[in-house]
Amino acid sequence: MTDTAVEPATTEVEQWLSRFEEALAAGDSAAAAELFLDDSYWRDLVAFTWNFKTVEGPAGVKDMLDHALAHTRPRGWATIEPPATAEGVTEAWIAFETEIGRGAGHLRLKDGKAWTLLTTLDELKGHEQTTGPGRPMGAEHGANPERQTWLEQREREAKELGYETQPEVVIVGGGQGGIGLAARLRQLRVPTIVVERNERPGDSWRKRYKGLCLHDPVWYDHMPYIKFPENWPVFSPKDKIGDWLEMYTRVMELNYWSSTEAKSARYDEAAGEWVVVVEREGAEITLRPKQLVLATGMSGRPYTPEIPGQDVFKGEQHHSAQHPGADAYAGKTAVVIGSNNSSHDICAALWEAGADVTMVQRSSTHIVRSDSLMDVGLGALYSEEAVAAGVTTEKADTIFASLPYRIMHEFQIPLYNEMRERDADFYDRLEQAGFELDFGDDDSGLFMKYLRRGSGYYIDVGASDLVADGSIKLQRGIVERLTEHGVVMEDGTELPADLVVYATGYGPMNGWAAELISQDVADKVGKVWGLGSDTRKDPGPWEGEQRNMWKPTRQEALWFHGGNLHQSRYYSLYLALQLKARSEGIDTPVYGLQEVHHLS
Ligand SMILES: Cc1cc2nc3c(=O)[nH]c(=O)nc-3n(C[C@H](O)[C@H](O)[C@H](O)COP(=O)(O)OP(=O)(O)OC[C@H]3O[C@@H](n4cnc5c(N)ncnc54)[C@H](O)[C@@H]3O)c2cc1C
Repeated sequence: MTDTAVEPATTEVEQWLSRFEEALAAGDSAAAAELFLDDSYWRDLVAFTWNFKTVEGPAGVKDMLDHALAHTRPRGWATIEPPATAEGVTEAWIAFETEIGRGAGHLRLKDGKAWTLLTTLDELKGHEQTTGPGRPMGAEHGANPERQTWLEQREREAKELGYETQPEVVIVGGGQGGIGLAARLRQLRVPTIVVERNERPGDSWRKRYKGLCLHDPVWYDHMPYIKFPENWPVFSPKDKIGDWLEMYTRVMELNYWSSTEAKSARYDEAAGEWVVVVEREGAEITLRPKQLVLATGMSGRPYTPEIPGQDVFKGEQHHSAQHPGADAYAGKTAVVIGSNNSSHDICAALWEAGADVTMVQRSSTHIVRSDSLMDVGLGALYSEEAVAAGVTTEKADTIFASLPYRIMHEFQIPLYNEMRERDADFYDRLEQAGFELDFGDDDSGLFMKYLRRGSGYYIDVGASDLVADGSIKLQRGIVERLTEHGVVMEDGTELPADLVVYATGYGPMNGWAAELISQDVADKVGKVWGLGSDTRKDPGPWEGEQRNMWKPTRQEALWFHGGNLHQSRYYSLYLALQLKARSEGIDTPVYGLQEVHHLS
């Protein structure tokens, strides 16, 4: 960016914002819509729509504003840092307010018109978070015979909430998703209980296979409010992240009911509340929250295929989620069914432990080398260099969110082409070993695969070399049956086995709703996750946002929360604000409630 580029950019943005403000103040949706290009995208997180919604083109903008303008009353549009122009696109960081809150966003202009606009509701007026200037005093100065210490207050709250008083929100699932959301709700003073069947916060990580480290780097993984310290490893080992979550739960003062299982939930329409039955350390307790959040994990319901002969197999067999680690299998023969992340991690660990390992690949897998992903895919936003260049986590999150899903693949394809070229020799070696590769249906790579289907990839941290050189044997095809001592493929190939690991992924998230609430409610809500991209495992029609995540669903007062650490951190704020608004009785007219096109 040169100095000469800054000034025209500022003028361009200021002119656009003032015309936008004028149109909005006049209630003129059509005039506001005319400020958008024909191929433009306005992504709103809660500020205008009380929803996560991306509208497209002037017609989409007008329709949304026709619904939202009168009650939103947006105003005070301003830039918060000097805009800049590069390659014909002017970018601006903006702030605004509405009738009930303060928001921020990001704008891209092309030829004086809006190409992309992101608007987010960041706080509710009068209900600001207890952070920064609003932080609690802690000490109570003066004299007070009724004084209660911080500890006494915490103990009292823990004793009463759920017994003598009811929480506003129950979050089922205390993994990093449930924990981060509960921390957000605490700052917004929304009484919340997190229900977690494991004994300790962090156990959902601790209980995964022994050698697991996060595949995403530290800059991408921060929890809300407390960033990882400077000495935190780039790729956090699973038990270390478990300990961090345990510490976090404590210092963020969460009401975290561990060793507690949610058994059933039903919505009492007349009372406008949920009846949630939980078993806490052996005792049954009924909670009556107004809002229910399922933060039960995308990778929480192991999917194990039914294969003839599983009952006769004399060796050990388990899903990857139950895999204890490789130690016990030195000298054994293992068959790992599946060829994505878990399979690669488990195969490599078994090989290191001295087992004879075969990976069974049924369909193609997208592989990207971790180094390349860090350098080419994430480096500009989430890296030490990005932080040094002033791209804070908050800024990186906003930039990420500002790219509309409809065109995100166009930004991703060149990155993955670059990685493919950079690692051409690596991919050649894998293909020569018989491994079937893909880069996603449209070559858009890992992140789009994750957003669309949440599966089908491996971030290579070493296992691929073992596949390429034959140390991990590769068997392509479909498993037909198990015998007493092995696995038989459809083409008749027999693979002897002492151990069979099903690295076959996880069941759909609305399966949790079926399990806990009812099949009717699960069907009413429909498929969770995916964009409707009409690619493999993500059927159309186009949805514009991820199905049912962090936003209102077709079941009143039922919400889904989760995703990777980055998504949970960023979107938990907007989910927390939706819950807070409801708890305060603020009107929350939802624009564009999601249609249900698929059941699971
Ligand atoms: C092998 C593997 C590697 C991964 N690597 C990464 C990575 O590098 N980076 C990343 O961001 N993500 C990674 N993920 C994705 C990972 O699953 C999520 O980031 C993270 O675990 C999601 O957190 P969550 O809170 O949404 O779900 P989970 O951590 O799965 O937590 C859900 C919780 O709900 C609880 N629960 C379920 N049902 C009930 C009930 N009825 N009552 C009470 N409690 C219940 C479970 O016990 C569990 O603790 C990985 C996943 C796997 C399987």
